[in-house]
Amino acid sequence: DAVIHCEGLAKTYAEGPLRTHVFHDLHLEVARGETVAILGASGAGKSTLLHLLGGLDTPTGGEVYVAGQKMSALSDAERGRLRNTALGFVYQFHHLLPEFTALENVMLPVLLGGKALADAEAGARHLLEAVGLGHRLGHKPGELSGGERQRAAVARALVNRPACVLGDEPTGNLDEKTAATVFELMLSLNREQGTSLVLVTHDRSLARRLDRVLELHEGRLRELSTEEV
Ligand code: ADP
Ligand code: ADP
Repeated sequence: DAVIHCEGLAKTYAEGPLRTHVFHDLHLEVARGETVAILGASGAGKSTLLHLLGGLDTPTGGEVYVAGQKMSALSDAERGRLRNTALGFVYQFHHLLPEFTALENVMLPVLLGGKALADAEAGARHLLEAVGLGHRLGHKPGELSGGERQRAAVARALVNRPACVLGDEPTGNLDEKTAATVFELMLSLNREQGTSLVLVTHDRSLARRLDRVLELHEGRLRELSTEEV
């Protein structure tokens, strides 16, 4: 039972006469409840891969299936809905909306999913409390510390109980101690709710804690053995 499955995945960026072939035949399957780290040098295509898995960009070849649904067969609205319900995104920079409070930022994906205001608020409160921000509900991102902002971003990614969280260096912008806290938070989600994690990271000590470690190198995904990580 795969939450994410892709076959023959290819991506070539074309800008005028310039072609960047990032990869041309990637295969990846992430089982429900599985945690996967993706390592790779800068420019290897890690962000590109995550964008394709999350339906934020379109592959030039191959297919991505999220929760059994073929992404290319969906309308933009359907893809948006699937992204909002089946997936959660955490980036290196939090991308919280500056004009909204922590509570409102976390409520937003629930409201976009069509839930009532009271449900959205209850869910958002619950998760912000779970990430240790119960006392910061009314703070705007500019009034939170870096770690608090990132924890709010994690709460936002998780509030719709996605089957899978896609993280692009989710702790990359944090000091070591805060990074560890945010990372533990994601792992506890995996343990308690069976949320799959696909995390791009360059931190091997974090990668080692996940079920599988893959390295993207010269357009190929290779599984690293425990000794190699
Ligand atoms: P990573 O996340 O591993 O650092 P990226 O996925 O960001 O790598 O980039 C992979 C390659 O694709 C790089 O050579 C990068 O320059 C190129 N690339 C990324 N995004 C674009 C884009 N929007 N247009 C053209 N080339 C891009
Ligand atoms: P850290 O030590 O984690 O970097 P800060 O020193 O930035 O944290 O902030 C300490 C606390 O003060 C945080 O909990 C944050 O929510 C609060 N805080 C920071 N800036 C503001 C602000 N402009 N308005 C209200 N609270 C703030």
